[in-house]
Amino acid sequence: MASTTSSCGTCKCGANDDKRKKKTKKKCELVGYDELPEWLKDNEFIHGYYRCEWPMKETILSIFSIHNETLNVWTHLIGFLLFLCLTIFTAIVIPNGGSSSSSRRNATAMDYYYWGDLMVMANMTGVLRHEALAACLLLHPADLSEHEQISTSCPTNTSYYPFSFSHHHHHHHHQQLQQHAIQCTKSDKNPLGLQDAGAGAAVAEPITRWPVLAYLGGAMACLLASSACHLLLCHSERANYVTLRLDYAGIAALIVASFLPIVHYSFLCDPWLRRLYTGSIAAFGAAAVSASLVPAFQSPELRPLRAALFSGMAASGVVPVAHKLALYGGTVREAASSACYEAAMGALYGLGVAVYAARVPERWFPGRFDLVGHSHQLFHLLVVAGAYAHYLGGLEYLKWRDAVKC
Ligand SMILES: [Zn+2]
Repeated sequence: MASTTSSCGTCKCGANDDKRKKKTKKKCELVGYDELPEWLKDNEFIHGYYRCEWPMKETILSIFSIHNETLNVWTHLIGFLLFLCLTIFTAIVIPNGGSSSSSRRNATAMDYYYWGDLMVMANMTGVLRHEALAACLLLHPADLSEHEQISTSCPTNTSYYPFSFSHHHHHHHHQQLQQHAIQCTKSDKNPLGLQDAGAGAAVAEPITRWPVLAYLGGAMACLLASSACHLLLCHSERANYVTLRLDYAGIAALIVASFLPIVHYSFLCDPWLRRLYTGSIAAFGAAAVSASLVPAFQSPELRPLRAALFSGMAASGVVPVAHKLALYGGTVREAASSACYEAAMGALYGLGVAVYAARVPERWFPGRFDLVGHSHQLFHLLVVAGAYAHYLGGLEYLKWRDAVKC
């Protein structure tokens, strides 16, 4: 019998007691797992430091105090701020291909090199990323060494484009590259034999950014909803129900939005495929959100089902990625490198979901990881890392499609 006013028997935040209510502020205290009402019981391996039915004001202020959700809130709040920075950066600094103003059309190679420099700044793990990508691409026919020859010959495939992500050549051969860019774009044939829409342009116009920005929006929605959910779910059974639905909707939004850059840029030249993949994942996302509205969805016994539903949805991304590789994997360097980031994202998300479902390490040492180090915190960190890998993959698509359109 979960009456929302008295279910929390030993709740120390006495909002239920009329006499106490009139007195001065009482300290909200943390309680143990056994003292929780059913609707707050989620993980029996976390023994203590629970907030229970705290008034809204105290619940919100608890963002600044220590309890077993503190790091769950902050891992995704900081992740949200990171993605907010990436969004501002992507929207303002990276040239927007959506614009068709004449000034944009007349942008010179020099402009693109300048923006390329700034784009490098978006890459917060510069060296690591370069090394990891090199290792990944070495397993692939597309050869990274092309990058090193950029200043001596025109590239044979689409890896050449006005943005350069490489620090090494950037500063030393700036001038040289600029000259080279103009010569190459004038003389290069389209290596893919695709229709050459931008023929005659001195420098290819940047492609539209909206799929990357929509992805960043989905990531921000997911991280913010998750953070709010962890902060507020202890307040009442109703708050718990509402914020958890918000959390699931956020996860679905992140997954659906993650498909947009993959599908839009991979199948830029095939609107039918774009619609097919976008429609499928949107339907999948809507189904997941609908399923989450059933109250039983939240029960602890269904934890594996929840994990399976969302990870199955994410795993269906294998289909468009494999399709992209089949079409362009051998000829377009960015098709291969973006797939490397997508594989990295898949590995990070997969590990995160495994940790979430298995509830390790707290399962092995119940009560020892209540405040720091329990599975949900690790899951959060892996989600942020996976989402960042996907953003880097998105930049690879922009490289590709800025250079070669349909
Ligand atoms: Zn969470």
